[in-house]
Amino acid sequence: MPSARKAGWPPPVWRPVVFYALVAALWIMFSDVLASAVVRSVGHFTLVEILKGWLFVAATSALLYALIQRDTSALRRSEALHRASLESMADALFLVDAQGRIVEANQATLKLLGLHPDRLPKDVCQMLTLLDIRHPDGRPLACDELPSCRALRGETVREEALELQRPSGERLHISVTASPVLSGTGRPPELAVVVIRDMTELKRLERMRDEFLSIAAHELRTPITTIKGYAQLLDRWTPGGHEPREGRAFQILNRQSDRLTHLVQELLEVSRLQLGRLALQRQRFELGALVEDVLERMRGVSSGHHFVLHQEGSVFVDADPDRIEQVLVNLFDNAIKYSPGGGDIEVSVTLQGTLVVVSVRDHGMGIPRERQGQLFERFYRAHAGLASDRGGMGVGLHLSEQIIQKHGGRIWFESEEGRGSTFSFSLAQAQAQVEQEARP
Ligand code: ADP
Repeated sequence: MPSARKAGWPPPVWRPVVFYALVAALWIMFSDVLASAVVRSVGHFTLVEILKGWLFVAATSALLYALIQRDTSALRRSEALHRASLESMADALFLVDAQGRIVEANQATLKLLGLHPDRLPKDVCQMLTLLDIRHPDGRPLACDELPSCRALRGETVREEALELQRPSGERLHISVTASPVLSGTGRPPELAVVVIRDMTELKRLERMRDEFLSIAAHELRTPITTIKGYAQLLDRWTPGGHEPREGRAFQILNRQSDRLTHLVQELLEVSRLQLGRLALQRQRFELGALVEDVLERMRGVSSGHHFVLHQEGSVFVDADPDRIEQVLVNLFDNAIKYSPGGGDIEVSVTLQGTLVVVSVRDHGMGIPRERQGQLFERFYRAHAGLASDRGGMGVGLHLSEQIIQKHGGRIWFESEEGRGSTFSFSLAQAQAQVEQEARP
């Protein structure tokens, strides 16, 4: 067992006290013996005792003064360090107490909010009204929905996207992170730390990129359609038919321009989505029939795969059939593309409560576990850089997720590397059908 000394006893904070207690004990034990040995008369002895008392008081006061001095300068140093770290931050950072009052803020806070130092709001609710803080879609926020208030209730809020308006009228996109300062005693937090990052410039650049993508994709569509049209025309018009080699060339030209059209279409859709221009045209239709339809077309695309459809009765949904078709085509395309060895592709349309669930299962290469987390992110390709990389832009799943979410549905997957993947999505069953089935 390690000795107490080895473990650093006494702890640094106790060292002056232990030292003081030792000196005081020695002083009490030996000072009287010493005084009586040196001073003989009672009068002088009393005087020495009084002087001894004063000496003791003076020594104790000096020790106390030294200790206070030491702690104060340590406190000043730590405060200067704390202030310097706050001020060196490019992001706005402020502290909020349990009553929602702003107790400390760095210079960047004033700069980001566009406020004069003496116009900094007293509390976060005042800040909410003064800066007209809203959700990115323009919805207003209640004061207790603010990240700072949620942090004071113990929640850690990470990078929440919000908007605010500076007193000059300029609107900013911000990302807010708020954390509770916990004392570790199980009591509610007394402080919350709030960090605000200005995302306006980044959003502007993203918007520029999406505008560019949208224009480029739009402009590319016409020449591609023309190339495909002429390739088909030439294929049909060659007098007396053409050589087998030429026929193959026309086929390749046709297939590649189809591929290009598909890529350009995906780019266009993804930029439309980012720019908020992807509108839904909802109508009531039978989902199983649409699945069957798309599947039939897919059978013609790949002869190496065997499509198996399983569905229970007919289920209706209120959705945009074109968009749902787009999701189905993408899931079927991926199932084919990522099972290059062929095999069964099992598709099911089932009813789970009032939800219709469509699942597409392949027995292909699957997705490595460590690459599964970001699968629905824009431009993310799980097999990039691997021998199993099949090319592509990584937008299909992102688009599918956005489309399903816009319908109020959910999309998810299960996958095991080397064994295959199952992609599923759910949509609410059409209300009319739910009511009809509920009737006795
Ligand atoms: P793309 O297939 O064009 O790259 P997607 O957005 O459709 O784009 O898919 C993103 C990534 O997810 C793909 O690059 C691939 O790594 C992975 N993936 C999608 N579907 C499957 C599947 N059925 N099996 C294995 N991996 C898949």
